[in-house]
Parts: sequence; C-alpha cells; structure tokens
Amino acid sequence: MPKNCNFIEKLREVGLRPTKQRVKMCEVLYDREKTFHFTVNDLVKLLSEKMNQKISLATVYNTVHAFEKKGYLKEISIDSHKSYFDTNTSAHHHFFDEDTHELIDCGENDIDKINIRKNITGKK
Ligand SMILES: [Zn+2]
Repeated sequence: MPKNCNFIEKLREVGLRPTKQRVKMCEVLYDREKTFHFTVNDLVKLLSEKMNQKISLATVYNTVHAFEKKGYLKEISIDSHKSYFDTNTSAHHHFFDEDTHELIDCGENDIDKINIRKNITGKK
C-alpha cells in the first residue's frame, strides 16, 4: 500500500478529513528515517516551506492534538507554556538543552542513576 493511503487511513482514524495539507503533514511527521521533536510553531513553519503556502496554525494545532489523543504523537511539556511533540511514542527519557532549545532522546541505557547527596556536612 502506498504511504499516502496509510496517511489517509490514519487521518480518518483520528476523525479528520484527509485534506492535502494534512496528508503532507503526515509525510513530514512520519515519512522519515528518524523520529523527531517539534513544537506546533516549528511544524507550521516547516509545512509552509514544504508546501509553498501558508498553513494555518489552527489546522496544524488541531491535527497534532488529534494525533496526540490517539497515541500517534507524544506530548512533552517543557514548562507551562511550551510543549513539544514527539513522533517517537515508545517509552524513553528526554534531555532538554536549554541553550539550543533542543530535546534529545535518551535510552534507558544512556542514563545513570542520579546521585543525590543525603546530607551536607556542616549544615544543619
Ligand atoms: Zn523523544
């Protein structure tokens, strides 16, 4: 089955009409070798570039949230007003680089137990 048919199925499954923009959005999200992290604004920019037309924030927002509800995307909240989405929906940890504003995946084996000092001598 061609990929685009899968995407149309996927969109129908989450209750969305498979418009050209949404199918393109699926391509951008899922037709790639590696999973990636993005914000809704990132995706609007990326899609507008790829399609050579302005994609509305509302369209992207609705589609992303419909996918998230169905478990096709994972939402990662950085703080109360910043959310990233992840096309990797398996369980994994994240490292957030505050300088580059980049989310980095960490596997279970990449992470050591965090050692927290139980008591600090000289302080009461
Ligand atoms: Zn991730």
